[in-house]
Amino acid sequence: MTAPVVPARSPEAAAAVVSETAPARSSAELIRAEEPVLAHNYHPLPVVVARAEGTWVEDVEGRRYLDMLAGYSALNFGHRHPRLIEAAHRQLDRLTLTSRAFHNDRLAGFAERLAQLTGLDMVLPMNTGAEAVESGIKVARKWAYEVKGVPADRATIVVAAENFHGRTTTIVSFSTDETARTGFGPFAPGFRIVPYNDLAALQAAVDETTAAVLIEPIQGEAGVVVPDDGYLAGVRELTRRANCLFVADEIQSGLGRTGRTLAVEHEGVVPDVVLLGKALGGGIVPVSAVVGRREVLSVLRPGEHGSTFGGNPLAAAVGTAVVDLLETGEFQRRATELGAVLRDGLTALVGKGVVGFRSRGLWAGVDIDPALGSGREVSERLMREGVLVKDTHGSTVRLAPPLTITAEELGSALAALERVLTRGA
Ligand SMILES: *Cc1c(COP(=O)(O)O)cnc(C)c1O
Repeated sequence: MTAPVVPARSPEAAAAVVSETAPARSSAELIRAEEPVLAHNYHPLPVVVARAEGTWVEDVEGRRYLDMLAGYSALNFGHRHPRLIEAAHRQLDRLTLTSRAFHNDRLAGFAERLAQLTGLDMVLPMNTGAEAVESGIKVARKWAYEVKGVPADRATIVVAAENFHGRTTTIVSFSTDETARTGFGPFAPGFRIVPYNDLAALQAAVDETTAAVLIEPIQGEAGVVVPDDGYLAGVRELTRRANCLFVADEIQSGLGRTGRTLAVEHEGVVPDVVLLGKALGGGIVPVSAVVGRREVLSVLRPGEHGSTFGGNPLAAAVGTAVVDLLETGEFQRRATELGAVLRDGLTALVGKGVVGFRSRGLWAGVDIDPALGSGREVSERLMREGVLVKDTHGSTVRLAPPLTITAEELGSALAALERVLTRGA
C-alpha cells in the first residue's frame, strides 16, 4: 500500500487540533452564533449539549440534565449505549457504505432479524422516518394497482386528523397542522382525513379505491393520544374486510417505548405494514424501515424505489444491535414497570397543576393548567431544574425518557415537575 496523503493522527492529537482552531465558546455565544447562519425551523430550549451518557446530558458549561425526551424516542436505549457504540465502532473499522449497487455482508442478517422481531416477512431499509412513510405510501399504492386492482392513479389512502408522519411535501399534504402546511402547497392528492379513534368515520371513508389506512397506534406529536381499547383491533378488522392495507406508523411508538416491541401488540394486532425509524438507529445513525407482509413488499422490482444510504452496512450493524437489545425483552419490561411509576406519579399531580394526562409505558402527554404557563414555559422552568422535556401543543408537555432510566431518576424528574408546578412562575 502507498503511504496515506494525510498522516494519521492519534485521537488526542486530533482533539488538540480542534481546540487550537476553535476556541471554546459559551452556551450563550453558541446560541447567538446560530442565529445568522442556521435556518430557523426550530425553537430549541436554550441548552447547548456537549456530551451525554445514558440518561444524562451535559452542557458546554458542565451542567448536567436528566433527558426526559430521549430524542423523541430516537434514544430509547439512552445515549451511547455500550452495546450499540461497540457495534458501530466495530463496523466503522471494517465497512461503512457500499450503496445497493452491491450487496454488503450486514444487510441480510439485519433484515432477517428485524422481520423476525416484528413477526412480518420482508424489510425495505431506508434512513429517516419520513422516508419510511413515503416508501410505505408508494408500496401501498403499487399494491392497490397490482394486487387489489384499483384503476391507475385512483388509489386513496385514509389517514387520521392530528397525525404526524413527517415533513416532506407529500406528507404535509395530509397534515391537519396549519403551521406544518401553510406556504408549502400545492398539496398531493389521494388522501382522505378522518377523526382519530373513530371507527365509524373510518368505515365511511374506506371504499374500493382505498389502498391503505395509515395511522399512528398512539399519536405522539398530538400529545401522546392513546385511542380507546378496541380501536386498533377495529382498524385491523375493518381493513381486512375492505381489502385494504393497515399501515401502522410505529416510528415513535415502536421499539419498546410503550412496554411492547410494537404498540399494536397491546391489542394483539398485526398490521400489513409497520413503519419503523427513530430508535432503530440506536441514537447513532438514521435508520428506518418499511416492514411488511411478503405479498405487499414484493410489489417492488429493481429500479422502482431506492436510497443511496438505505441499508448501508453501518446502519445495518447498528440496527442489528438494536434488535439484539429488544430481543432480551428487558427494555419492554422496564417500560412497563417504570411506566406504572410514571403513571402513579402523574396521577398524584392531577389537580396540583396537572389538568390531565395520557400515558402508555414510558411515554406521557401531560396537560398543564394553562394558568401556570404554556408548555414551553414549563419546559424552560424544568430545564432550570435540570430536567429536559419538550412541549407539544399549547400547555401539553411530553415525557419520554430513555428506557434505561432508573426509578430514582424518574422520581427526581417527577419531583422537579411538582416543584415547577407548585411554585408557579
Ligand atoms: C418522527 C416521526 C416521523 C418522521 O421521522 P423523521 O425521522 O423525523 O423523518 C414519522 N412518523 C412519526 C410517528 C414520527 O414520530
